Amino acid sequence: MIEVADLTKTYRMGDVLVHALNGVSVTIAEGEFIGITGASGSGKSTLLHMIGLLDLPTSGSVTISGEDVTSLSEYERTLFRLEWLGYVFQEYALMHDLTAFENVALPMMARGVPEDEIRDRVLHMLDQVGLRARADHLPKELSGGEQQRVAIARGLVNDPGILIADEPCANLDSENSKAVLDLFAEINRERGQTVLMVSHEEWHMPYFDRVIRLKDGKIVER
Ligand code: ADP
Ligand code: MG
Repeated sequence: MIEVADLTKTYRMGDVLVHALNGVSVTIAEGEFIGITGASGSGKSTLLHMIGLLDLPTSGSVTISGEDVTSLSEYERTLFRLEWLGYVFQEYALMHDLTAFENVALPMMARGVPEDEIRDRVLHMLDQVGLRARADHLPKELSGGEQQRVAIARGLVNDPGILIADEPCANLDSENSKAVLDLFAEINRERGQTVLMVSHEEWHMPYFDRVIRLKDGKIVER
C-alpha cells in the first residue's frame, strides 16, 4: 500500500549539506502497525514527513495506493492529505484559542463536510478518546495526556487510511503513553488503519507488528 523507493533527502544549511535520508526503500502493507525507531538525527521524522506528504524528497518516490504522491501538484497533495492521512505530533499542535471540539472539527471543515455530520462525528471521536465531557474546554484547561488525546481524535476524525504519528508519547508519562499505544493498537485492529509511529522507547516495540530501524538515514532493520 505504501511503497518507498530509493528515497533521499538532503537539507542545505548555508554551505553545509545534511543527508537526512540516504536511499531508503521499504514497502508497508495495508493495516500494518509500524514502529519507526533509531537514534536522534537518524532520519525518522524526515521519513515520516515524506510519507505524510508534508515535505518533498530530494530524489526517489513514495507511492501510496498506486499513486506516485511525489509527482502531485501542491493542490493535489492537499486533497490527498485530507483524504488519506491523519497526523499526530509530539507537541500536540492544537490551536490554543479553539476548544477541543473545534480542534477536532478542523480536518472535517477543511473537507467541507455538512455541519450536523461534523457534530456527530466529532462527539463520537471525543467519546472514543474519553473526552466527550471536555468538548468545550480549551487546550490550556486540559492536561498533556488529554491534549494528546484531542490531537489523536483530530488525527482520526476523517477516518484516514494512514495515521502518521511522530513521537506522540514523547511528552507523556508512561501511563498516558500506554493509553495512546493501546488506542493506536485498537484502531489499527478494528478499523484496519495503517499506523506509522516514530518512537525510540524500547518498551513500545512489542506493540508494533514490525519495526523499521534507521541509522544515519539508512534502514538497518525492517
Ligand atoms: P530524527 O527524527 O530521527 O531525530 P530527523 O529526520 O529530524 O531525525 O533529522 C535527520 C537529520 O536531518 C538530522 O541531522 C537533522 O539535523 C537534519 N534535519 C532535519 N530537518 C532539517 C531541516 N529542516 N533543515 C536542516 N536539517 C534538518
Ligand atoms: Mg524526529
